[in-house]
Amino acid sequence: MSHPNRALSQRSCKGCSACCYELEIKSRIGYSTLLDTGEDIAKPQGVWCRFATPKGCSVYEQRPALCRDFACDWILGRKGFGINDSPSQLGLIGVRGERVECTDNPLPNLPKTPEKESA
Ligand code: SF4
Ligand code: SF4
Repeated sequence: MSHPNRALSQRSCKGCSACCYELEIKSRIGYSTLLDTGEDIAKPQGVWCRFATPKGCSVYEQRPALCRDFACDWILGRKGFGINDSPSQLGLIGVRGERVECTDNPLPNLPKTPEKESA
């Protein structure tokens, strides 16, 4: 079945991992930063999540609800985020009405070994 909103149906996270780099990840009410294994994905802004890889999230099936439930304002088609205003095109991520400027880090090019490079 096609998405009832054609503009939204054309939006996808495919090829973008901007939020896994640009945004601070911290626990909040109802959302833990812990995986089932006990490993913590909490991190500051502007640092790769240690589970991010060039192929995407290495714990995709086990990723916490914090990640599963996140959708930036472009994905949601919020006001001000037209079809051509994706994070990589606009250079910023909309997060519940707030705008987080992307750094110079070339999106969506992940470092080959994000854990080591962010250390
Ligand atoms: S920044 Fe938006 S488009 Fe990019 S991966 Fe995150 S939710 Fe998807
Ligand atoms: S756990 Fe996966 S989806 Fe969540 S921030 Fe890390 S790389 Fe991104």
